[in-house]
Amino acid sequence: MNLLLLRAEDFLPDGTARLRGRRAVHAKEVLRAQAKDVLRVGLWGGQVGTAEVLSIGGGEVHLRPTLDTAPPDRAHIDLLLAIPRPKALKKVLPAVASLGVDRLVLVNAARVEKSYFDSKVLAPAFIEELLALGLEQARDTVPPKVFVRERFRPFVEDELAGVFGDVAHRWLAHPVGEKPLPALPRPGPTERILLAIGPEGGWVPFEVQLLEAQGFRTFSLGPRILRVETAVPLLVGQAALYRQLSA
Ligand code: SAH
Repeated sequence: MNLLLLRAEDFLPDGTARLRGRRAVHAKEVLRAQAKDVLRVGLWGGQVGTAEVLSIGGGEVHLRPTLDTAPPDRAHIDLLLAIPRPKALKKVLPAVASLGVDRLVLVNAARVEKSYFDSKVLAPAFIEELLALGLEQARDTVPPKVFVRERFRPFVEDELAGVFGDVAHRWLAHPVGEKPLPALPRPGPTERILLAIGPEGGWVPFEVQLLEAQGFRTFSLGPRILRVETAVPLLVGQAALYRQLSA
């Protein structure tokens, strides 16, 4: 944890903050914080800064935060991600938050197992906890907005254009026999990119057609088939770099 993420409800009327639970244990046992130490903190959805430890002990930390700095810039990248197996999702959610992705749509697809919808990983509180881990890692405070959609076609046909109305570039990652990323038009420095990433079994042809009908362009990173948890950070990184090269 490189930043202690505070919630509005942690604050007392005098502007100090009291933490218990996971964050208090982390401050004591991992950061080995003591009274008068200064820790890096951020307010969920707000600014970052430092906090003086006023007291620590009895499972509680009492802090005096000063929040005066903007969190890091956003990636200007959004993801349409077919729901991966829960074990992969547990890795992908913190990574997506760490990378500064703005919107994440977790969508059903033909090769997504139906049982994934019963997984506790998709519960809003669980998602938020995994995003918090990624934010704390990256010293960010702004989580991606997450949507979970159980029906692929209605989402793509009826909702996608509204959710991603400001996106200039829609790219579909598909491993086999497609063009490499540089074959697609280069995004301008401030243009948003939406990446569609398939499930472990890949996109089926019908899904590729439906997304292409919505303006997605298909590209490949080459013949190595990557796991979803590997593909996500690599694709976000490649998209960001490709845009940067055009600046
Ligand atoms: N057997 C599947 C592999 C899916 S891997 C198939 O052949 O399609 C899961 C997802 O990660 C893919 O749907 C794609 O979006 C992304 N991905 C993995 N490796 C990739 C590569 N080499 N190029 C582009 N996308 C890739």
